Amino acid sequence: MSSVLTKAESLSLPVGRFAPSPTGELHLGNLRTALASWLSVKARGGRWLIRIEDVDLARCKPVWAETQVRDLAALGLESDAAIVWQAQRSEWYRAALDHLARQGSLYRCRCSRKDLQLLASAPHGDERLRPYPGRCRADKVARFLPDALRVALPAGVVAWEDRLCGAQADDPATLTGDPVLYRRDGCFAYHLAVVVDDGEQGVTEIVRGGDLREVTATHFRLQELLGYQHPQYAHLGLVTGPDHARLGKRAGAASLSALRERGVTPEELLGWLGWSLGCLERPEACRATDLLAHFSWDRVPAGSVAIPAAWT
Ligand SMILES: [Zn+2]
Repeated sequence: MSSVLTKAESLSLPVGRFAPSPTGELHLGNLRTALASWLSVKARGGRWLIRIEDVDLARCKPVWAETQVRDLAALGLESDAAIVWQAQRSEWYRAALDHLARQGSLYRCRCSRKDLQLLASAPHGDERLRPYPGRCRADKVARFLPDALRVALPAGVVAWEDRLCGAQADDPATLTGDPVLYRRDGCFAYHLAVVVDDGEQGVTEIVRGGDLREVTATHFRLQELLGYQHPQYAHLGLVTGPDHARLGKRAGAASLSALRERGVTPEELLGWLGWSLGCLERPEACRATDLLAHFSWDRVPAGSVAIPAAWT
């Protein structure tokens, strides 16, 4: 095989990632997402990366990142490259904001929290999904400056395909509106950091929790404005309590350390996770590598999955 072919082949291999925020221990939903993304790329000889999403400095603690990486390693999930910490990547985010400013799509938002509440039209209380109607769009900035900054997203519906949920057609204007990319408190925002990092790391597929499905169209628009390829997306269903109710505050009870205290080994957990992802007919203790030959997106259930009652 010529070296050119080898390089072309390596370029076409999938790159996946798991990107936790270090705000606590990983719970079963996080671990299931991590395993699914690892299996999806590893089953095709690809690379898997861990990225620590610690861009929100006030909420994130390095000690949690260490615990999370250790728990992933206990399941056999290790990053194929040095772990990237978002808190160390300000230069990249600033460059992306300068790029958007030069395009004329970055603007300063002077709305107060109260203004935003009055402007919000979404009936539910989820602040993350209250669409911002672009009131401050005229206040364009020529380059990055440390103030609340939003990007003017192009109008229109984004059609995209979710590997689990199928064809999607979302209008960012009705979901997020123009997202904040730099916050008044001095933090780069999640929407900016995640899109820049996935683009710069060459991530080709993203597996994440279904709670982020509604921001995907916004990420598509940002990828276009910043010149990045669109990765493939798969949004997994929730891991619920045994009664199918949201885990919520009980999520901490479903961490690897809590399961260990109940006598559940990492291999037993992997067997359950692998079963919940359609790799096994019944939950049987195994290693992550044992699941590789059995993983297929066609077999992953799109709905939620309830944790065993004995584990809570
Ligand atoms: Zn505003």
